[in-house]
Amino acid sequence: MFTLFFRKTLTCWVFGFISFWSLTALAAEYSGPLFDAHLHYNTEAWNGQTGPHPVPDVLARMQRSGVKAIVSNSRPNDGTIALAQARAETAAASVTVVPFVRLYRNRSDYDTWFRDPTIYDMVLAELARGTPVGPYRGIGEFHLYDSANANGAVAKKLMALAEEKQLVVLAHVDDAAIDLLMAHTASKGQKLRLIWAHTGIGGAPVKRVEALMVKYPGLMGELSYRPGLTCDRGDLCPEWRELILKYPGRFLIGSDTWINQRWQTYEDIMRGYRIWLGYLPPAVAKKVAWDNGAALFGLN
Ligand SMILES: [Zn+2]
Repeated sequence: MFTLFFRKTLTCWVFGFISFWSLTALAAEYSGPLFDAHLHYNTEAWNGQTGPHPVPDVLARMQRSGVKAIVSNSRPNDGTIALAQARAETAAASVTVVPFVRLYRNRSDYDTWFRDPTIYDMVLAELARGTPVGPYRGIGEFHLYDSANANGAVAKKLMALAEEKQLVVLAHVDDAAIDLLMAHTASKGQKLRLIWAHTGIGGAPVKRVEALMVKYPGLMGELSYRPGLTCDRGDLCPEWRELILKYPGRFLIGSDTWINQRWQTYEDIMRGYRIWLGYLPPAVAKKVAWDNGAALFGLN
């Protein structure tokens, strides 16, 4: 009886070990540099330095995650200025700050920026002021909860301005709004460089994402919070793998630290990317992880 029990236990253990081993026999995680193309350093993270995530804290999180460059934007813009001002600290952490002008001074601006002329004036003032690491390189992240608001007077002017000044746009919008925003530029979207935050957080079908990528050569997809992106073992779902392999130069990763909880899990978020990047051919993984962002902003 004891022998049988022992044998069964041993068999279970051996098979258990084998199945555990096969489940964990994963591709090696991507281990190269990361470009965080969607980062916020909002006021509640640091509150003028005394919040839970002051500059040394966020830089340490980036450093531990192998993040070497960030698109930084913040509500209000002081957070980005603080990161840009910390020249010695960012250099020590090997993090390049790519500053964007955010369209929000406060939370109520989220719902009205697209028709508020004072937002346009604020953007012009920020662009004229610049940052300690040089001129702003883009505008956003902004949200459009109703795509029709892409036709707001200020949204129209900002898209035309972005193309004219070669500023990159970071937009959290649906697929219909991509078409509307692009239409407001002189080139009808052929020259505007637009990072589509979450590549459609509402889950636009992959075929629709692809059609937009074909239509607009400057459209880039940032992949945080994208529904349907990952499947088993943290790997990409098949249709996303296919899309990324087809357009390896068009995707980016980002943390979207929109609330402090995202800062608390920053390293886990980046680890999640490293897992699915590890299943891609190394050259494709490096493009999505680093090269595409570096190329967009002329980093080495
Ligand atoms: Zn965001």
